[in-house]
Amino acid sequence: MCHMISIISYLMMNDIIQEIESLITIVRGLQPNKVPEEPKKRVKRVKVVKVIPIHNHPIDDETHHDCELCRTHGNILVPYKK
Ligand SMILES: [Zn+2]
Repeated sequence: MCHMISIISYLMMNDIIQEIESLITIVRGLQPNKVPEEPKKRVKRVKVVKVIPIHNHPIDDETHHDCELCRTHGNILVPYKK
């Protein structure tokens, strides 16, 4: 008995699978080879930010050791001589 039921359910499964396959064919026919649109590539533009070194203090003839530009280039009025 149990065996019979499994055969019947197998046959039903086959029917269902065939049904689904025919449906898939129909749906494919409705949408003939839709080419998926390629997403537009965004060109990433890297902004080149020029960092212009500036003194972080008022102009005087002192060399400020906490000032990046003074350390690298010397004082505004008395720059390092090369
Ligand atoms: Zn400075």
